[in-house]
Amino acid sequence: MGKSLERLSEMAIPDKMMAIIKTEEKRGAEYRETNVPAIGPNDVLIKVRACAICGTDIHIYQWNKWAAANMRKAFSGLPRIMGHEFSGEVVKIGGNVGKVKIGDRVSAETHIACGQCYLCRTGNEYNCQQLKRFKDGIFGEYAVIPEYSAEKLGDNVSYEVGALMEPFGVAVHAVGKTAPVGDTVAVIGCGPIGLLMIKVIKAMGAAKIFASDISDFRLNLAKKAGADVLINPSATDPVKTVRDATDGLGAGHVFENSGNVKAAKQAFELLRRCGTMVMTGLPSEPLVLDAGSDIVWKGAKIYGSYGRDNFTTWELAKGLLDSGKVEIASIITNRFEFKDYREAFDVAERGLSGKILLIP
Ligand SMILES: [Zn+2]
Ligand SMILES: [Zn+2]
Repeated sequence: MGKSLERLSEMAIPDKMMAIIKTEEKRGAEYRETNVPAIGPNDVLIKVRACAICGTDIHIYQWNKWAAANMRKAFSGLPRIMGHEFSGEVVKIGGNVGKVKIGDRVSAETHIACGQCYLCRTGNEYNCQQLKRFKDGIFGEYAVIPEYSAEKLGDNVSYEVGALMEPFGVAVHAVGKTAPVGDTVAVIGCGPIGLLMIKVIKAMGAAKIFASDISDFRLNLAKKAGADVLINPSATDPVKTVRDATDGLGAGHVFENSGNVKAAKQAFELLRRCGTMVMTGLPSEPLVLDAGSDIVWKGAKIYGSYGRDNFTTWELAKGLLDSGKVEIASIITNRFEFKDYREAFDVAERGLSGKILLIP
């Protein structure tokens, strides 16, 4: 039975597919035909059902300084299929694969650890010294990923939500660095990661959540996600607002997601003494702090966080969804078919969106 199913499924897989491909080191991408990727013995072929646009995809689409400096280092040369956040159905597996079977609905961990370096062997696989990414991107009708990356979706998790599991994991990982129950929290930067953080922080029982962003559109999404006090730093002083609302103390837990050096400096100023700072934002220039008042005298605890704690974060993220304590579908604000990718990236660049989905 299993064998014949496999054969049937393989017969249905075409040789060619359409994909959104970065072909040249300049702005834009192409939607064109390419080969359905071949799989190795440890790989899984996925029929892609939903993809999400990440900040890095926007950098690569624009071909800005970050993309020029990091594309080759982080990924591979061009042409390359774009994208990494997605969900889909397993349609073919390599001979060594045992983690998933044909027909499974999956999402994927995008950071592939070696399992052998010092960090991997000491419980920090997420920060592997030889961290690898997918050989090719996933904005195609099919995608190949290593078995390592495949993560089964719960029966009640839709493909659309499945496409958000990777960024959701970034938020779950970062919030897990601290315990904001009953306390005050400030979330600086309310893009998709900040919005997902607010939902998790709310579920953890925070007393009051301050949300700061220069976009009123995103502040509105932050309010819907559960933020109590909205701050637009282009109109209001975030340090004064948070201090005034906390008897001059500041927020007990601060999440800096903006990567803006001015906002990050203010984030340290509005952190309470002995408070916890979790940083996920990547400043494009060096961040200047007053180490005395911002860190030393403050007794600040500072964490950097990126990616997901493979695979603990996946279990926690699935647990949050399964329990109904957190829903994440509402951060999706736009859906585009692959062929309308230009419009999707236009919307993404304008910042007037939560998470944007691309559907094959
Ligand atoms: Zn991402
Ligand atoms: Zn490693």
